[in-house]
Amino acid sequence: MTTANQEEHEYTEAEIKSVTELVKLLLKMEQEEQQRRRRLARQPQGFPMAGEGRDCWLCHTGVCHENGWYDKYGFKCMACQNAVNKRIIPGSLCNSIISVDVFSTN
Ligand SMILES: [Zn+2]
Repeated sequence: MTTANQEEHEYTEAEIKSVTELVKLLLKMEQEEQQRRRRLARQPQGFPMAGEGRDCWLCHTGVCHENGWYDKYGFKCMACQNAVNKRIIPGSLCNSIISVDVFSTN
């Protein structure tokens, strides 16, 4: 289906392959998130999670070669998790859009 502003486009094999790979990746990511949520139901305090290049939800530091922590507030680096554990930072801040600006110097 096209609208007046769209032209029909014949997709190349490379484009189809790219979209297919993207969908596979998104499905894999969603399956992994579902597994984490099921584990969180069994371990509500959270659990260590390999960083694998993820960014901490709170401070945006990349966590590559060490573990972070996953709990109901999402993935965090261990420094932020320790701050949450010590109640220096409220855990709920980690899941808030406000956290984007917490450490901003602008
Ligand atoms: Zn962090």
